[in-house]
Amino acid sequence: MGQGNSHEGLVFSKDPNHPANLICSLCKNFYTLGWVTGTGGGISIRHESHVYLAPSGVQKERITPRDIFVMDFPTKTYLRSPPSLKPSACTPLFMASFTKRNAGACIHTHSQAAVLCTLLTKGSTWSVANVEQIKAIPRPSTGGYYGFFDKLVIPIIENTAHEEDLTESLEKAIDEYPDTCAVLVRRHGVYVWGDTVWKAKTQAESLDYLFQLAVEMVKLGMDPAGPIAGAE
Ligand SMILES: [Zn+2]
Repeated sequence: MGQGNSHEGLVFSKDPNHPANLICSLCKNFYTLGWVTGTGGGISIRHESHVYLAPSGVQKERITPRDIFVMDFPTKTYLRSPPSLKPSACTPLFMASFTKRNAGACIHTHSQAAVLCTLLTKGSTWSVANVEQIKAIPRPSTGGYYGFFDKLVIPIIENTAHEEDLTESLEKAIDEYPDTCAVLVRRHGVYVWGDTVWKAKTQAESLDYLFQLAVEMVKLGMDPAGPIAGAE
């Protein structure tokens, strides 16, 4: 453990739930789901005053704790920077969820279902209603979760040439939609955050389920945000 100025103790742990180990195992899971492929997408975890970040340009299913960056929060000072690697280009976007929502983790996917939902919607929001799975999505204004009969609305921001250039519009969407736990990026993917890493994971899974379902509903000529047929 604690190896002087290399700060190895920050990332090497036998505990499978240590953030550095979780980033590696969850990136493997997300790789098999098609969420993080060809080095795109990722996850960052905040534990107390430490933010754990994956490197840029490393295949997501092959990341090891040795590759993990650690940043002090909220000073944003790097406590551990693996030589010859750069932190994820998503870093300022992950930080937006930590500073603006006090999130415990933020997941970024390039899920095809998320991308398709942004293409099926011309406006600045995507929505779905009357589906059981929306009950897994938190609604901070009520102190609870969405109900079956509620409409879930997720903001969509326009993509930019460089990932970090999304920061300003992502922060604006977070401010304008205080109930949202996610922001879609048109032709790109989605950012999802949660109070803990497990909440971020289950919310990202639930949202991806809803994105996939919505794509199928549109293919069948149904409106994912429409009323229940025959219930008007
Ligand atoms: Zn991305």
